Amino acid sequence: MKPARDRKVEILAVGSEMLTPHFQDTNSLYLTKRLNDLGLDVHFKTIVGDHWDDLSLAFKQALDRADLVIATGGLGPTKDDRTREVLASVLEQELVFRDDLLKTIEKRFARRRMKMPEVNKKQAYVIEGSVVLENKKGTAPGLWLEADSNIVLLLPGPPYEMEHMFENYVWPRMQAFKKKYVHRRVIKTAGLTESRIETLLMNLYPKIPDVQLTTLARPGQIAIHLKSTSDKSLLQATQKVEQASKLVCDILKEGVFSTEGEELEEVVGKYLQKRRQTLALAESCTGGFLGHRITNVPGSSSYFLQGVLAYSNQAKTDLLDVSSETIEKFGAVSPQVAKAMAAGIRKRAKATFGLSITGIAGPDGGTTEKPVGLVYTALGHNQDVLVKKNLFLGDRNAIKFQASQKALDMLRRHLLGKSKP
Ligand code: ATP
Ligand code: MG
Repeated sequence: MKPARDRKVEILAVGSEMLTPHFQDTNSLYLTKRLNDLGLDVHFKTIVGDHWDDLSLAFKQALDRADLVIATGGLGPTKDDRTREVLASVLEQELVFRDDLLKTIEKRFARRRMKMPEVNKKQAYVIEGSVVLENKKGTAPGLWLEADSNIVLLLPGPPYEMEHMFENYVWPRMQAFKKKYVHRRVIKTAGLTESRIETLLMNLYPKIPDVQLTTLARPGQIAIHLKSTSDKSLLQATQKVEQASKLVCDILKEGVFSTEGEELEEVVGKYLQKRRQTLALAESCTGGFLGHRITNVPGSSSYFLQGVLAYSNQAKTDLLDVSSETIEKFGAVSPQVAKAMAAGIRKRAKATFGLSITGIAGPDGGTTEKPVGLVYTALGHNQDVLVKKNLFLGDRNAIKFQASQKALDMLRRHLLGKSKP
């Protein structure tokens, strides 16, 4: 067998449904992440349908070019589940019946007071010489097979079954392949553009040559992924990443909202909870999306009081006490109305903070003066109301996300300024 250092890995996703526009192969993403954790890179990924010849060719190619092949799917009881059979034929190995496996499968059905259907019997056949991987979440057992210079794993298709089997029976066996120690950290930022971050971090890169730094941007949120590997120890990899992480945070300052993987709404929620303060929302163009994000956080009831979705002008007047004169004079999408909405909801809800959003999410309804993407976000606190004018790009969903992000970030920055938790 080749030394671990040179081991090439291929993932085979088996299933014709993933060759349609309706189903995606997510198993390979999960597996890639865990292989990377061991310092192993994936060299090839193949999605192949259930046909015998195609599957056979895919296995032949994978065995030819990779040392470790991990296939998922097609271990079920139905006729089109034939991964086991095809691999046996490619390797010219026999399938052997295992009575103990049949008993396990029968027991699984018996626990649900069902008789095992005859078709499930084929799941008790394994390729000669393979190690059987138990499936605690389903009927199809997995297989670990060492053939010539290759290692082949067959895992079930349903992600829940595959992940459980991988973590419990594959991961421990794979520790022997560990190539490197890996440590990662994700730094999330808001209120900074990608080019601004790039400019700020430019001088840092030469100082951290051993840390891989990748920026993943979506409108409204930029995440910086730091990764380091070490041949010697996890401590070494960890130290490199943590030192770099500190340098990045020092440079980006309050632009950073999390280094622990949290979402912005979680971070804001923690601050509010700690300070025993409350929040109410007045949303127009985001249609309740900000409220949805805030209430996605467990425990949000301790600081979130209410949200009003005031889409029409009349609703803004009736529910938030925005005067009809203000709306008439400045328009519903204006700093004046955003301010009145934030102040109105704060007062009505008797909350510490009122956040409001009013804007044009498009694709229609824009003018030269007020284009699509123009959004005002306002934060009401005491007698003060802070308002920001934003021009967001993107489709309706992207604009909604950015607007909610901006409103949350205004509150986060305000809370940071008052007292650093
Ligand atoms: P079963 O006993 O459920 O038939 P199986 O091992 O035969 O298990 P498949 O029939 O290939 O697995 O797939 C079952 C389901 O698992 C598919 O409908 C699909 O939803 C999901 N699945 C299969 N492969 C993948 C994959 N690579 N990524 C994500 N989901 C997958
Ligand atoms: Mg199946």
